[in-house]
Amino acid sequence: MPSSAVKVLDKNGQEITSVGFDRFGFNSEVPIDDLRSLYLRSHYSSAKPNDELNPDDEGPHHAQFTKGLSPYQSKSIYYPEHNSISYTTLARFPPVKLLAPSQRKRVLVTGGAGFVGSHLVDRLMLLGHDVTVLDNFFTGSRTTVSHWVGHPNFELVRHDVVEPFMIECDQIYHLACPASPPHYQFNAVKTVKTSFMGTLNMLGLAKRTKARFLISSTSEVYGDPEVHPQPEDYWGHVNPIGDRACYDEGKRVAETLTYGYHRQDGVDVRVARIFNTYGPRMNPYDGRVVSNFIVQALKGEDLTVYGDGTQTRSFQYIHDLVDGLICLMNSDETRPVNIGNGDEFTIGDFAELVREIVEKVQAEDGDKPSRQVQVVYKALPNDDPQKRRPDTTRAKESLKWQPRWTVRMGLEEMVRYYKAKMAEGSL
Ligand code: NAD
Ligand code: UDP
Ligand code: UDP
Repeated sequence: MPSSAVKVLDKNGQEITSVGFDRFGFNSEVPIDDLRSLYLRSHYSSAKPNDELNPDDEGPHHAQFTKGLSPYQSKSIYYPEHNSISYTTLARFPPVKLLAPSQRKRVLVTGGAGFVGSHLVDRLMLLGHDVTVLDNFFTGSRTTVSHWVGHPNFELVRHDVVEPFMIECDQIYHLACPASPPHYQFNAVKTVKTSFMGTLNMLGLAKRTKARFLISSTSEVYGDPEVHPQPEDYWGHVNPIGDRACYDEGKRVAETLTYGYHRQDGVDVRVARIFNTYGPRMNPYDGRVVSNFIVQALKGEDLTVYGDGTQTRSFQYIHDLVDGLICLMNSDETRPVNIGNGDEFTIGDFAELVREIVEKVQAEDGDKPSRQVQVVYKALPNDDPQKRRPDTTRAKESLKWQPRWTVRMGLEEMVRYYKAKMAEGSL
């Protein structure tokens, strides 16, 4: 595999060439370029009027990431003069590990077409496991996993988790649930149903199949916390009837159900409390702060800070989260575990950082921004937590897991991803 055109240094200044590790009998390591070739791949090549079609040409914005991996890229062709696209299936799937049947897991990923799910799916597929994605495409999209459709190890099922579902599997990553405030508040009753009935069904499935069950819970179970940073044994400070309650209380009851099945029925459970995570494939319009700020800055629009910008969040890059989820799933830790990055920012400072990084990447690429973007202030949404930072002592001690990506490195990669999407016209 080629070495990457973009060098990434971790928190200790070491170059990141691969993610994952061999721990708890499960090797999750893959080269970072193999993953990049999936999320920074070109979705099509452009045909100029009267041009010979050359589907092997990669767009210039993607080529620097996907060099050498073009046989695994989609060869769809875009016709600018008609604004139409001719889809082609992949000529060849990316190489996946050939595992002995004893090592190969049958893994169900609910919500696998979403932001977090699709990155987990890429990792599990490259590692050689059998992966089934179950998703109703409410906030996720088939395009996030389309590069695996047709692969013998992969299955994509449109299904709503509030309905029962039968499958035979060894591990269940239960991620299905809208995660951004505008999305989970769009239909609050459905969010509660998804959290309760969806989790009940997936736990029933785990009980029947004796599969190990991991739920993606959230830092929102701590609400607007009175303890800082938040350790797992903090019970939280949640408004049960506020705008965020459908999500916060939904996840709290989902955890209650999970430990109910664990105690009553012996279901083997794992609970990941995920803190704010960002990365490529985040829906650019789902209203979360990282995607909002980057897209605004790239489009030359002002960055919208809600409230006075003194509230804080701690941002984790997607590969660290996937490492943590896989590590937790394969460990013996049945208590809840915070998975997040301790680098805490006020939202006001974070807006400045995003603006600076977007300007840096634009300067490196020789782009001329249409205007200097400003930071503007909007009303603070109800019940917006004032501060949030994970206490990750448990993950460190129990899983030997710690985040490796600096916020700056993750943001630079995400800016390049959105830039490439803009250049393609799909953002
Ligand atoms: P996302 O919205 O991108 O993905 C959620 C996926 O679940 C989507 O593909 C959606 O279509 C699917 N889904 C929603 N309701 C469903 C239903 N009823 N049946 C089947 N599929 C359904 O969000 P994400 O950021 O990838 O979040 C994934 C999980 O991680 C969620 O459970 C979320 O609560 C949790 N989480 C994420 C973050 C974060 O910062 N990204 C933080 C804390 C917790
Ligand atoms: N369930 C499911 N798939 C399975 C097994 C169960 O979707 O393979 C659902 C089942 O329909 C029920 C829920 O999971 O709604 C809880 O199952 P459990 O066996 O605990 O409860 P029961 O069916 O006894 O009410
Ligand atoms: N936020 C903001 N501008 C935006 C979107 C969000 O200032 O365009 C703020 C939001 O009010 C919150 C923080 O950024 O304080 C994180 O918001 P997000 O929706 O990403 O996640 P959550 O509030 O669930 O942590």
